[in-house]
Amino acid sequence: MTITVDAPPQLQRLKQALGVVADLRHTESVAGWDSRVFMPVRGAPARADVSATLGRLAHEQFVSDDVGELLEELRPYEENLDYDSDDASLIRVTRRDWERNRRVPSDLVGEMWRAAALGVAAWDQAKAVSDYSLLAPHLERQLELRHRYVECFPPTDEKYDVLLEDYEPGMTAAQVAAIFDDVKAATLPLIEAAPEIDDSFLSGDFDIAAQEEACRRILAVFGFDEAGWRLDETPHPFEANPGVGDIRLTTHYRGDDLHSLFSTMHEFGHGVYEWGVDTALARTPLETGTSSAMHESQSRTWENLVGRSRAFWRFFYPTMRELFPQRLDGVDAQAFYRAVNRVRRTAIRIDSDEVTYNLHIILRFELERDLLDGRLAVADVPAAWNAATREYLGVDPVEDAHGVLQDMHWGAGLVGYFPTYSLGNVLSVQIWERARAEFDDLDAQMERGEFGELREWLREHVYRHGRKFTPEELIERVTGRPIDAGPYVRYLQEKLSTL
Ligand code: ZN
Repeated sequence: MTITVDAPPQLQRLKQALGVVADLRHTESVAGWDSRVFMPVRGAPARADVSATLGRLAHEQFVSDDVGELLEELRPYEENLDYDSDDASLIRVTRRDWERNRRVPSDLVGEMWRAAALGVAAWDQAKAVSDYSLLAPHLERQLELRHRYVECFPPTDEKYDVLLEDYEPGMTAAQVAAIFDDVKAATLPLIEAAPEIDDSFLSGDFDIAAQEEACRRILAVFGFDEAGWRLDETPHPFEANPGVGDIRLTTHYRGDDLHSLFSTMHEFGHGVYEWGVDTALARTPLETGTSSAMHESQSRTWENLVGRSRAFWRFFYPTMRELFPQRLDGVDAQAFYRAVNRVRRTAIRIDSDEVTYNLHIILRFELERDLLDGRLAVADVPAAWNAATREYLGVDPVEDAHGVLQDMHWGAGLVGYFPTYSLGNVLSVQIWERARAEFDDLDAQMERGEFGELREWLREHVYRHGRKFTPEELIERVTGRPIDAGPYVRYLQEKLSTL
């Protein structure tokens, strides 16, 4: 039996303190979004100062003695609450965050924010001229900061575990490696056996205004609402949400293919997760998705499970024919569906298909583990990258811009982030199977262009909880099982059999 207890005044004081922290983080989010969408190149050093200051201030406010004392005083109240109530979750998760963040000096946090802003700006230039030497000193700096960060925590099996904890709480590098072994063992034969598919009609001149129209129409049926969402253009798409009612997607249009459609659907998945978090959790540590992998599971749901499905293209392909009459002349919906699912070895992660994608991630995971443990020197990364690409994907990157410089993550200091992409793929199908079991006409709904019921189901079971539950708890609640590569592997096998 639950006894209802009036919330003590400390709860309100805690929420006020956390609201200030959230506002600082939201401000940093706008500054970061602007730096990648509108800011002129030379603004980078000044913006890095802004990020460092906001990051440091948010950290100082959060790890204050006041917050710690309020959390202590709230223990008796917490003990009388249900585990999954908003208040108990707020106190529990905030205490976990507080204890973890309290170990790290605010100055180090500020330096990490500064290094991220400068590193991304340097990576941008390095990629533009395909010159790794422009990124290398920033990568050295990022590793130095990561080592200092790791030293703030008690020893773990490997340093990587400390970094991974920030993106995927509860997961260790050894667990990730075990899941990746399963995925790798299952996908290598699939790649070998994949059918030859003609996708030549997907390269060539694709009018950008028509691509923009296609993206807008897809977003409209998925649930994009002009009053609460934005879509802007940037070279490397991402999603930002600086507060309730403010979801910002970005995409990238290339004149010679249709990549923008999938990138837009991907970022929609991130946006709709944030959109769906219960507004009662706003301005608290619970107001966002529970982990990077769970977030990625939703971007991959909307990009792949919906956006690369036969049902979706039965619905949307007539619009494509209307928008690109010459380019798609003589191509039917099934041919288009097969082409957007073609399995192909490429050196570029974001151009890869669902099957080979994970090999790109496994390669990065192994390299960054080696980098962090000092088995790989920063100077040797391009050679190691190229060798691994040859070994895993059987292709040679043409130049560093499309090899080691293709992703911004390491420039931004995001070491430990990459594995969450493949973990997200795995989780996405576990959740999807559950949704399919609950409404058996999902394909028929998608063929009619109806996505509202799916979106609401995901909101009810996943999105609305924000960070109330750990990723482990959430996947158990939704599917009754822990993370498991089995459903994902079966999905890939079935998918390939339809091509
Ligand atoms: Zn993503």
